[in-house]
Amino acid sequence: MLTGKTALITGSTSGIGLGIARVMAMHGANIVLNGFGDVNAAKRTLAEFDCTVGYHDADMSKPEEIAAMIKYAEMEMGGIDILVNNAGIQHVAPIDEFPVERWDAVIAINLSSAFHTTRLLLPAMKARRWGRIINVASAHGLVASANKSAYVAAKHGLVGMTKAVALETATTAITCNAICPGWVLTPLVQKQVDARAVLDGVDNEEAKRRLLGEKQPSLQFTTPAQLGELAVFLCSPAADNIRGAAINVDGGWLAQ
Ligand code: NAD
Repeated sequence: MLTGKTALITGSTSGIGLGIARVMAMHGANIVLNGFGDVNAAKRTLAEFDCTVGYHDADMSKPEEIAAMIKYAEMEMGGIDILVNNAGIQHVAPIDEFPVERWDAVIAINLSSAFHTTRLLLPAMKARRWGRIINVASAHGLVASANKSAYVAAKHGLVGMTKAVALETATTAITCNAICPGWVLTPLVQKQVDARAVLDGVDNEEAKRRLLGEKQPSLQFTTPAQLGELAVFLCSPAADNIRGAAINVDGGWLAQ
C-alpha cells in the first residue's frame, strides 16, 4: 500500500519509531531512520523487506542538524512523503526541582523538532500534492501526570500544533494527525519501570504491574507494531479526511 512512498521517522533506532518503521516497510515504504540507538540492529530489523533504508544522525534538539537531515532525505532518498515526528525523551521530577537543561531538552526534542521537520518538509509535500504528517504525542498530550511537567507541556503543545497544521492543510491532500499512546514497553518506559522497582523494592514484573495498574485499565502494554498499523492506516485513502485528530491508544487510560 505504501509502495513508492518514502517515510522519515525521527527517533527510529528503537521502540515505537522502529516499530512504525517496520510496519511501514512491511507495507512497501522506503524508510529514513534517525536516532542515537543501534543503527545496524535497526537496519537488520528492516532487512527482510524489499525497501530502501537510509539513515541520518541528526540530533533533533538542533535545528541546523534537522535541516541537514531534510536535505539528505531530498538528495539521497528522493524526498519525503510521510513524516513521523516520533523522537522523544522523558525526565521525571517535581517542577521546583526540574533541571532547566532537562526542561529545554524535552521541549526541543519532543516539540520544537516537529516544528522544524514540518516547516521544512511541507513545501515539498504541497508541490507533490500529497503528504502525511503523523505526530507521536502521548496520553500525556491530553491529560497530565505529576512530575512530568516538561513532557506534558511538550506533548500538549504537539497535539495543539497538530491541529494548527491540519487546519493550514485542510483543503489539500496533506493530513496531519497525532497518535497518543498510553504505556508502551520501550527503553524509555523500561527506565521508569526500573525506577519504580527500586522505589517500591519490588521486581521488574511487579513494577510493570504497578505502573499499568495506576493508569492503564487494560493492564496490557500497547505494542510498537500496533502503533505502526495505526500509522499505516492514517496513510491510507480511508484516512483522507481524518485531520487534526489526536487518537489515543491507551488501554482505556483516558476513558476514566
Ligand atoms: P525510545 O527511547 O525507545 O525511543 C526514542 C528514540 O528517540 C530513540 O531512537 C532515540 O535514539 C531517539 N532520540 C532521543 N533523543 C534524540 C535526539 N536528540 N535526536 C534524535 N533522536 C533522539 O522511546 P519510545 O518509547 O519508543 O518513544 C518514542 C516516542 O513515543 C516518544 O516521543 C515518546 O514520548 C512517545 N511515547 C512513548 C510512550 C511509551 O509508553 N513508551 C507512550 C507515549 C508516547
